[in-house]
Amino acid sequence: MKLNKKFFESTFDSTKRMFESKMMKIPHEVIIKFQSKEDYLVAVKENPLIQTQINLGFYKDIEKEYVGFAVVYANDKLELRTIMGLPYAITICDEIAKDVLKPFTSTEIKAYLTHVYLHELTHIFDNKLKETFPDMWQENLSKTNQNVPMANELFAESIPPIVMGEKDISIYKSVEKKLWSKVILRAEQAKRQRRL
Ligand SMILES: [Zn+2]
Repeated sequence: MKLNKKFFESTFDSTKRMFESKMMKIPHEVIIKFQSKEDYLVAVKENPLIQTQINLGFYKDIEKEYVGFAVVYANDKLELRTIMGLPYAITICDEIAKDVLKPFTSTEIKAYLTHVYLHELTHIFDNKLKETFPDMWQENLSKTNQNVPMANELFAESIPPIVMGEKDISIYKSVEKKLWSKVILRAEQAKRQRRL
C-alpha cells in the first residue's frame, strides 16, 4: 500500500484513543512531526544504543538497512513543554516508513504503525506508566542488568500488547519479523561469534 501523511495522522488519532481507553488519560497534547531521512539518520547514528549495535556488527550499511522510522527526541518529551504550551511530539521519518512498508497491506501497516505509536507514547509517559506497572519495570531492569536505556526499550515493548488485541499483535509480529530479519540475523551471528 502507498502510505500518505493522512494515514499516519488518522492511525495516530485512533492509537491515542486506544491508549486513553486502555492505559491512561493523555494529560497533554501529543503530535507527530515528520523529519527528512538525512536528518533522521544523523540522529540514529548518534544514539548510544544504535552505536553499540553498529559496533557489534548488526549493520553492514546502516543508511540502507535501518528500518526504524519513529523516535521521541529528549527535547520533545520535556515536562517544561506543558508550561510553555508546546505539545509533546513523536518524530516520524515518512520516507523510510513509506519505503519499508511498501510491500504490506493497509491492515498490516495499520497494526504495525499502532504498535510503533504505542511504543513511542510509552516513552513520553514512561514515568507515569512505571508507577502503574512497577513490577514490569523492575523485571525489565533486572533483565537488562540495570541498564536504564535498554530497560526503557523493553518497557516500551511491554505496553502495546496490553493495549492492542491479540489478532493485531500477531499481525504486527509478522510485519516486524519481515522488516527486521536482516538485522536479527546479524545480531544472532554476532552473539554466536562472541561465545566462541
Ligand atoms: Zn524506543
